[in-house]
Order: sequence, then C-alpha cells, then structure tokens
Amino acid sequence: EAHRRGGAEVVRYRPGTYEAARARIDIERDLRRALDDDGLQLAYQPQVSLVDGSLVGAEALVRWHDLERGTVSPDEFIPVAEDSGLVVDLGAWAVDAALEAIAAGLEGVVVSVNVSARQLDDPGLVAAAEAALARHDVDPRWLRLEITESALVRDAEHASALLRRLHDLGLRVSIDDFGTGYATLEHLRRVDVADSLKIDRTFVSGIVHDARDRAIVGAAVALGRSLGFTVVAEGVEDAAQAELLAEMGCDAGQGYHFGEPTTPEALARRAAG
Ligand code: C2E
Ligand code: MG
Ligand code: MG
Ligand code: MG
Repeated sequence: EAHRRGGAEVVRYRPGTYEAARARIDIERDLRRALDDDGLQLAYQPQVSLVDGSLVGAEALVRWHDLERGTVSPDEFIPVAEDSGLVVDLGAWAVDAALEAIAAGLEGVVVSVNVSARQLDDPGLVAAAEAALARHDVDPRWLRLEITESALVRDAEHASALLRRLHDLGLRVSIDDFGTGYATLEHLRRVDVADSLKIDRTFVSGIVHDARDRAIVGAAVALGRSLGFTVVAEGVEDAAQAELLAEMGCDAGQGYHFGEPTTPEALARRAAG
C-alpha cells in the first residue's frame, strides 16, 4: 500500500505487497499486448430518452477478453492503465474505434467515450483528437467525451481550458459520475462547454426506496437542467426508477433496464428502429 504524505511516497511493506505489484506489472504487460494486437473491443450501452423511449446515444465501454485471464473488468485494468500511462494510448485507440463505428452506421447516435484524468495531463490529447477526426469522415458532433467529475475538480483551470479546445474541434463534452467527485457550483459554472451531465448510479439505485437519494437526484436533475445540461441517469435497472427519473425531468437513462453494453452492429440495428 502506497501513501502520499507531503508529496513523498511512503511504502509500507506487508505480506502480499510484492504479489500485488507483480500482478499489476503482468496486467500492464498483457494489456499493452492486447492494445497492440487488436485484442480490445468497445461495447456500446444504449442511452434512451425518458420522454419518448427513443435511442439518443450510447456509451462506449472498453472490453478485454484475454485467452488466459478470461474477461477482465475495466474496474481492474483501467486503474493499472492509468498508473502506467498506458491509458493515454488506450484512450486514443477508443476514440479511433468509436469514430470508426460511427462512420460504419452509428451516425445519428451520440457516442460517448471515457477520458481518464491521466489523459488530461497528456500534452498530445487535443492533437490526437484532431488527428483521429481527420482520419475518419465523421461529423464531430456525434462524438462526446466523458470526463469524470473528479478529474474535472483535480485541476479545474487546466481541465476547463482543455475541454474548451476539444469543444472547439466540434466534439461534445459530458461530466461523468456526477455526485461522486466533490464538484462545487463554481466548477459547474466554469465548464460551460459541457452539454451533458451524468448522475452516478450510486445515487440512482436508491431513488425508489430512499427518500434522501430521491431528494438528491431530484435536486441534481433540476440543477443540471437549469444550467442547460442534458441530464443522463446512470445505472437505471428497472421501470420504477425510469418512471421516477422521468417525473423529475431527467432527459435520458442508461442502464440494464434499457440494455446492456452490446456490439456496434446490434446498436446500429436498434438505431435504425
Ligand atoms: P462508467 O463510465 O461509470 O461506466 C458505466 C459502468 O456501469 C459500466 O461498467 C457499465 O457496464 C456499468 N453499468 C451499466 N448499466 C448498469 C446498471 O444498470 N447497473 C449496474 N450496476 N452497472 C451498470 P464497466 O463497463 O465495467 O466500466 C467501468 C468503468 O471503467 C467505467 O465506469 C469507466 O469509468 C471505466 N471505463 C470503461 N471503458 C473505459 C475507457 O475506454 N476509457 C477509460 N478511461 N475508462 C473506461
Ligand atoms: Mg462513463
Ligand atoms: Mg459513469
Ligand atoms: Mg460510474
């Protein structure tokens, strides 16, 4: 376990520490290989209008099926990719793959790609996005970049300047996992280039049975809407949640109730009606 104390890294040696470090190094090596050998895929999870049930967008989620490891969860390998810097290449790959899918039949659906905090530190991010757009004949407004609230807060000035440059390329920007990253009203005021706000599923899951979760989500939806954001609820798992969210004025929902992450072909069929 590594701690940060006054900038210095303090490592406590404990049984298991070596094994954990070894495991991370192995994941990093295998993930790098998967990235180089076409071993990663994007799965697309539908985002559905709570007003009329139409498909309005999809979130691209990276999938890693390894011969020996089986299916590895992003919650396991994204943190490793962030620490090692590999997430910069992974993120560039994801943008490219999403643009290819849009060109191949998803135009008309806004596709969201996750951008990690670590990528915001990469001085090549804007140029990479620009180059990817030049490689594909796609209207940039069909691509949306999701930045987590916590990444936004970490270095708000830098992040908002960067988001503005990405927005100037014609891309859309979304604030992800809202409610978990300690954004203040000041942060929300500043990121005026974002057009969508995603309410984290940890709040959404409680809205039917927990009055406090319901109050929080209702207030977040109202705040987001009044600031001009399209508000998307994450992790919608049943009809009762969807109905409540619609009553609150939430624009769209994403979650198992509306569909699991799927292939771009299946999503295109759904988009076609
Ligand atoms: P996220 O951005 O919050 O993505 C939503 C996660 O919630 C996805 O998990 C999705 O499969 C899951 N989910 C969707 N609907 C439901 C539901 O109804 N109930 C529940 N319990 N879960 C639901 P996934 O695919 O395992 O991804 C986990 C996280 O990994 C993502 O969270 C995102 O932060 C990160 N991630 C995924 N793909 C990428 C990527 O290409 N780049 C980066 N930087 N991060 C990624
Ligand atoms: Mg996301
Ligand atoms: Mg999210
Ligand atoms: Mg989340």
